[in-house]
Amino acid sequence: MGYAQIVATVLAGAITVVAVYLAVRAVMTITAVIRQGQPDPARFEDPKTRTKTMLVETVGHTRMLKWSAIGAAHWLVMVSFVILSSLVLEAYFEVVSPRLGLPIIGHWVVFGLVTEWIGILGTLGILYLVFVRQRQKPGKVKRSRFLGSTMWQAYFVEAIIIGVLIFGFLIRGFKVATGHFEYPLWATPLSHAIGSVLPAWADGATWMALIKILISMSWLITISLNPTMGVAWHRFLAFFNIYFKRSPEKPAGSGLGALKPMMSEGKPLDFEEADPEKDLFGVNQVEQFTWKGLLDFSTCTECGRCQSQCPAWNTAKPLSPKLLVLSLRDHAYAKAPYLLAGGGKDLMGEEKATEAQLAHMDVLALAEGNRPLIGGVDENGVIDPDVLWSCTTCGACVEQCPVDIEHIDHIVDMRRYQVLIESSFPSEAGVMLRNLENKGNPWGAPQNTREDWTKGLDFEVPRVGEAEFDYLFWVGCAGAFEDRAKKTTRAVATLLHEAGVNYAILGEGETCTGDPARRIGNEFIYQMLAQQNVETLNEAFGDQKVKRIVATCPHCFNTLGNEYEQLGLKVEVVHHTQLLAHLVKEGKLTPVQPIDGEVTYHDPCYLGRHNRVFDAPRELLGSAAGKDITEMPRNQERSFCCGAGGARMWMEERIGKRINVERTEEALATGAKTIAVGCPFCYTMIGDGVTGKGKQEEVEVVDVATVLLRSLKQEA
Ligand code: SF4
Ligand code: SF4
Repeated sequence: MGYAQIVATVLAGAITVVAVYLAVRAVMTITAVIRQGQPDPARFEDPKTRTKTMLVETVGHTRMLKWSAIGAAHWLVMVSFVILSSLVLEAYFEVVSPRLGLPIIGHWVVFGLVTEWIGILGTLGILYLVFVRQRQKPGKVKRSRFLGSTMWQAYFVEAIIIGVLIFGFLIRGFKVATGHFEYPLWATPLSHAIGSVLPAWADGATWMALIKILISMSWLITISLNPTMGVAWHRFLAFFNIYFKRSPEKPAGSGLGALKPMMSEGKPLDFEEADPEKDLFGVNQVEQFTWKGLLDFSTCTECGRCQSQCPAWNTAKPLSPKLLVLSLRDHAYAKAPYLLAGGGKDLMGEEKATEAQLAHMDVLALAEGNRPLIGGVDENGVIDPDVLWSCTTCGACVEQCPVDIEHIDHIVDMRRYQVLIESSFPSEAGVMLRNLENKGNPWGAPQNTREDWTKGLDFEVPRVGEAEFDYLFWVGCAGAFEDRAKKTTRAVATLLHEAGVNYAILGEGETCTGDPARRIGNEFIYQMLAQQNVETLNEAFGDQKVKRIVATCPHCFNTLGNEYEQLGLKVEVVHHTQLLAHLVKEGKLTPVQPIDGEVTYHDPCYLGRHNRVFDAPRELLGSAAGKDITEMPRNQERSFCCGAGGARMWMEERIGKRINVERTEEALATGAKTIAVGCPFCYTMIGDGVTGKGKQEEVEVVDVATVLLRSLKQEA
């Protein structure tokens, strides 16, 4: 061992000791922050499915690959990070002697071959990611997905990866040049090519290996000093975050479909027993999120995919799901020393720490501990209330997030506290809540007018109790009271009648499913309505083995099918487009008269993204129109919300561009004469959008069922 090797070994050892010490300390900090969260025992259930999902999503990169080229590049970088970590380890042997390699596999030609090609492809992958970041950087493109991301951290990580890869090839090159390289040319062509132009410097490999170690350890030191550096830490945390996702069996984001029930001490809150002095009613302090929430915040990579798809962000509202997560993360880490030193507020807002404890606390952490979680700029709040109320719960963020962050649950948890404890929410939504409480529907229509839509039909609509039925037709409040939606209800009833389907309605027995109350955060009203409906449905189905419901409203469809299970009702729910598509396939309905002009289709968020029903409405429209539909640029999983979800239907849209206008412009740009919808709220929003544009004479907005009805032989 020469002088160079001794110096390099000492330096490599010293920096490694420092880096490992800091990394252990950072891991302890991250763990301590996450442990501040509330219990959530359900996350440990079903380890088999969880493991499988985690492996599929990470190794298979299933979510990232939706962004094909970027996903492929990221996959290469991920694989190169894992495989080439072995070469960083090998560098510790190479500083001692260029003849040394990793024990056992270090001189194996397959190892040389794999690491060579992974190194080449990883370099191309990271260069492509740098190029994408440059091409989409803030200032260069409007509303860049990287706006608000900590850019230096991403460039730092990318530079480190490039540096490690370059110095890896230089080590090999000097080994080639000095005759210490054991792998053949066919397996390691780039290393041989580099070696052919390098001088035969005996200590070259040693110094290159030292630089590679210094670069790697400076990365470890930097990320250890910055435990909120998600762009680096997600490499480790993403595995856990995906493993612990809420519904591991779901192909899309875990936080779609049903909302997380209100929890207190790891159990769903029982409203009959609940006491706001002892139980959590939503979230008002960052430590009131579950530990999984805090893990979510820690794992965010700052990639901005969620931001790029968010309808609120894209229409200049103050909400960006990424910035929301980053604010919660930064606050959680800044507040952690205060909490860990015994500070924190109890449910009545009283300080838990003693005067003596407070006197010894870190001043910045204490200040952060006293910051309100929700509050406007003048209150120095972490999250502005306008951010919370801008969300349509469309699920685009959850769907796109590569590490399965559950944004909607966090937003609704904060809404719950605002509504249930603070009674603080957009005042116009109060009318809707009062109507739900007093009349059982958001419009406040009298219950005895629920069946008015049946008037004038030339057949009798069967009621539950009057006849046997295979499908309970859940009409929904919009379908019963709202003029445009009533057309859909009548069309569906007519089609079911024509096809000879045994169905029945609840009529005056139906009330709102509670979806708008739940999404705005009023779990109390939701529970009241939901329990009433569960009782009515149990009675209606009696001892029927197969309990099937057909619903025209995707919000009812989602609540009945996914959320009533939390109250013990298990039913099979289909959307009317699914049932009608089935009837067309069976030959029970035969479209014969194609409709005029092009047709486009707007995917409702709660039908498409939340429940993966993309094909049935398209099949129906295809058969009714006699041709393929003209898709909007944003369709299916990437569809753009109409602006009505998350109870936004009952709130004024005062900030930015109206979401329905943005979507209507996209629909109109297709040149279609018919904009088909599958949701009464989308019907209203897009319908208003078309009227607002003065295009109502040229372009018609209709439900898919109406399109089908018009194309039937009987109608022709
Ligand atoms: S659910 Fe939709 S509106 Fe809400 S933050 Fe996510 S993308 Fe934005
Ligand atoms: S998509 Fe997920 S990881 Fe990316 S910025 Fe949004 S929350 Fe963070």
